[in-house]
Amino acid sequence: MLRTHTCGELRAEDINTEVTLAGWVQRVRNKGGLIWVDLRDRYGVTQLILEEGSTDEALLKKAASLGREFVIQVQGTVIERTSKNDKIPTGDIEIKATSLEVLNKAKVPPFIIEDETDGGEELRMKYRYLDLRRNVVRNKLQLRHRMMQETRKFMDGQDFIEVETPVLIKSTPEGARDFVVPSRVNPGEFYALPQSPQTFKQLLMVSGFDRYFQIVKCFRDEDLRADRQPEFTQIDCEMSFVEQEDVLNTFEELVRHLFTHVKGVELGEVERMTFADAMKYYGNDKPDLRFDMKFVELNDVAQNKGFAVFDSAELVLGICAKGAGEYTRKQLDELTNWVKRPQIGAKGLIYVKCNADGSFKSSVDKFFNQDDLKAWADKCGAEAGDLILVLSGDKNTARKQMSELRLKMGEDLGLRDREVFRPLWVMDFPLLEWDEETARFHAMHHPFTSPKAEDIPLLETDPGAVRANAYDLVINGVEIGGGSIRIHDRATQQLMFKHLGFTDEEAQKQFGFLMEAFEYGAPPHGGIAFGFDRLCAIFGGSDSIRDYIAFPKNNSGRDVMIDSPSSIAEDQLKELHIKLESKGI
Ligand code: ASP
Repeated sequence: MLRTHTCGELRAEDINTEVTLAGWVQRVRNKGGLIWVDLRDRYGVTQLILEEGSTDEALLKKAASLGREFVIQVQGTVIERTSKNDKIPTGDIEIKATSLEVLNKAKVPPFIIEDETDGGEELRMKYRYLDLRRNVVRNKLQLRHRMMQETRKFMDGQDFIEVETPVLIKSTPEGARDFVVPSRVNPGEFYALPQSPQTFKQLLMVSGFDRYFQIVKCFRDEDLRADRQPEFTQIDCEMSFVEQEDVLNTFEELVRHLFTHVKGVELGEVERMTFADAMKYYGNDKPDLRFDMKFVELNDVAQNKGFAVFDSAELVLGICAKGAGEYTRKQLDELTNWVKRPQIGAKGLIYVKCNADGSFKSSVDKFFNQDDLKAWADKCGAEAGDLILVLSGDKNTARKQMSELRLKMGEDLGLRDREVFRPLWVMDFPLLEWDEETARFHAMHHPFTSPKAEDIPLLETDPGAVRANAYDLVINGVEIGGGSIRIHDRATQQLMFKHLGFTDEEAQKQFGFLMEAFEYGAPPHGGIAFGFDRLCAIFGGSDSIRDYIAFPKNNSGRDVMIDSPSSIAEDQLKELHIKLESKGI
């Protein structure tokens, strides 16, 4: 070993020990006859000291010539610091250097490699390997590592077997576009990268594996956001001989295990809510339950009072922002402008302030008297000092807009504490979802999800009303995982494909292998997959999953460090039997 200790290890007990350390020069402070060097590795920072008089000239000179990020090896004695630094664990000691070797020089880094850096995001992405030297970034990957180890520990302890499934496969419909890979040896044919190992894990159940899991890369070609990357990681799981309740209980325990062992947090009760209620009370299928502000439907108290906007609306929705009754005119105007932005698209915002004296002040005083407004307040559970915000319109739009406004109010009022965790199972999702663009039904989860037995007759009469045995785990408004009980017989699977608009031939061509497998003794089964990157981000208190991925892509799906995607050579294209429409396209 080129070192006896790491840079995070030495303490007062080690004083007088002869040590050899190796690491990166974080900083050199040269006060003439006195030089301090901060030496860093992934374990911490240790201060080296070289002093005129007690250090020889050549060594002093060498130390003075060190630059940021030089890799060095140093020998010396651990001594007590005269002025201690209680901000770092090694702050009681320093190393009086007796020899020093430069193992490798470094160019001046493009940004400062410290917790507070001067580098912008693009630059840090280009030099990601340097950004990863920073504590704040490395800690996030260490958290990811812990999460992975604890996941494996828990799953292994529950008899789950980790099985790898192939990456070069055929389309698995998870609702996104596939990434495809041309086959050189099969001209004109393509593999698809898995959007998930869905069909394989179901086949493993047919094989009798009974409890499967995999920490696995999945690939989806869709528009990117802070919590989406074209390649991401799932904790993918499947179990046989289970009902929905068994799956929920098993994976609630996994999440609880991770919270306890990685975060030191005892997760409270995991609430449950139907999809229908989530939409009705929170306007989305992943409600953030860290704060209340439930939607209140005000149609019966707000309509037929001469206010045309409400009278013509399908839904009049209110929320009560506790303690926000003191909002100023300016703040209310800002909120109104906020909901009117094209991203939200509301036509306006109605407010009612609940004054301390029990009176009300609203933006629609012309149409509603104090008694009317009192009726609103009663319905909303609003008291003196509260603010009621009201939106109206057609049901789906009003709910969507109110959902955004609710989240904003939660944020503005400081109710979305990153150290509070409110887990929730959203259940009974619709089986099918109408897609305006293609004018047909799509599977809301995926086509292998089983309908609720009692809703199967509705498939013929009212397909949109059929509920699925499908569930999502939501934490703090983020969808962390989703799964379902599966169809495990050929007839139901065929029926499902029929309702999704597949002809028998298409279904056979794409998923014949699965339907055939169901004819060889398929056990009832179900499972779930967790978005591992998102789970890490929630644990780390971030919105972006990028920080938890060692080498992430940017918003246009580029890896700016290795410059990918990039064009390939003419020869390679030829080998793959691919002709581009025009060069560079
Ligand atoms: N394959 C599903 C997904 O990726 C998860 C599941 O149903 O287990 O969302």
